[in-house]
Amino acid sequence: MSKPTIAQASCADDYDPNSMPVAKARAFIHQFLEPLEARVRVPVRSALGRVLAEDVISPVDVPSHRNSAMDGWAVRGADLANAGETVLEEIGASFAGRPFAGAVGAGQCVRIMTGGVVPEGTDTVVMQERARADGKRIAFAPGQATGQNVREAGEDLARGGVAIAKGRIVRPAELGLIASLGIGEVSVFRPLRVAFFSTGDELKSVGSTLGEGEIYDSNRYTIHGMLERLGCEVLDLGVVRDDPALLETAFREAAAAADVVITSGGVSVGEADFVKGLLGQMGEVVFWKIAMKPGRPLAYGRIGKAHFFGLPGNPVSVMVTFYQFVREALLTLMGASPVEPVPTFPATCAVRLKKAPGRTEFQRGVLSRGTDGQWQVRPTGEQGSGILKSMSEANCFIILGDAVGNVEPGSQVEVQLLEGVV
Ligand code: AMP
Ligand code: MG
Repeated sequence: MSKPTIAQASCADDYDPNSMPVAKARAFIHQFLEPLEARVRVPVRSALGRVLAEDVISPVDVPSHRNSAMDGWAVRGADLANAGETVLEEIGASFAGRPFAGAVGAGQCVRIMTGGVVPEGTDTVVMQERARADGKRIAFAPGQATGQNVREAGEDLARGGVAIAKGRIVRPAELGLIASLGIGEVSVFRPLRVAFFSTGDELKSVGSTLGEGEIYDSNRYTIHGMLERLGCEVLDLGVVRDDPALLETAFREAAAAADVVITSGGVSVGEADFVKGLLGQMGEVVFWKIAMKPGRPLAYGRIGKAHFFGLPGNPVSVMVTFYQFVREALLTLMGASPVEPVPTFPATCAVRLKKAPGRTEFQRGVLSRGTDGQWQVRPTGEQGSGILKSMSEANCFIILGDAVGNVEPGSQVEVQLLEGVV
């Protein structure tokens, strides 16, 4: 079955652009996301934060040889008596990086350190706490099991096996794992190109003086930060005035240069008609009122080949809608898989929260340990959608779902840590 167009998808029976639940908007967008294909080879360190475009296949067994998991002696399991001590003769040593050269015969043992190659003839390591040395005569306590404390070659990862799957975002652990295989270069997807601009006649750039009714363009900075953190290639087109000709030029330029176009402002009632008409001609865009607070107006669609996200203008709404809709979409386009929503978990709400059922609220919260040792959360002061300080002071979102009404102190609410999202 071929994928629906945006217009077809927005004709579904239960599609209501004026009351769009958060989950439904997310699922709607998800239908249209085709991951990038272009890839590049980069040195391992440069892969940090990028998405693997191919499985990393192990060229070797890990560990590469049978080695000891303990400091002790390598012995032949068959030599160990079931009852009473066993005394064996130490004939050499095997240290990590300095293996024992010979073979071990009956009645003999080899001193071995963690990571040391288990010598030929032996199959068991007795930890040093279970042994007593008297010169080269080593007495082992009873109760040892043949094969114990030995790590087999290929036990962690067999040669030819998938060490890291395509789609994984490379973190420090992956850098180390790739290096541990002796691999110096990996294939990653090329960065996603994202163009963005702010719209509004009231906006001034930092560095200029404000006239009456004017404000500084802060969305330009938060959007820049959010995109950089995701590893996107950022194309900042600045502020565009609410003027049809200028907006049309900006949209054209952005869509031609980037995989994704993001704007802030201009999608709220009153302003939307203007942008709606324009984007109706240039592409296929749907305008929603999401059943959420903050962040009610949101536009999504295509302008030419580029994906388009029209975020609301209010600074907190910009961040909330970015994290709830755009982040996952961009990760999917970047080739990441699986893309999971950032986990939420319950915490005790320390104060009363006012909330009307029927929409999802994303309050900005501070999660901390209560005196009882349990995690508790409280909102950061005033929650207006223009108050960026509420976001700056927060370490989590308090997510109050559609069905939730007022929250009483001591009851459980869902929280989502910003660390890991941002
Ligand atoms: P709009 O969605 O364009 O109606 O804007 C909603 C509110 O957000 C208005 O108070 C705007 O002044 C404000 N706003 C819009 N864009 C920005 C921006 N880039 N930086 C800071 N505030 C903005
Ligand atoms: Mg505006």
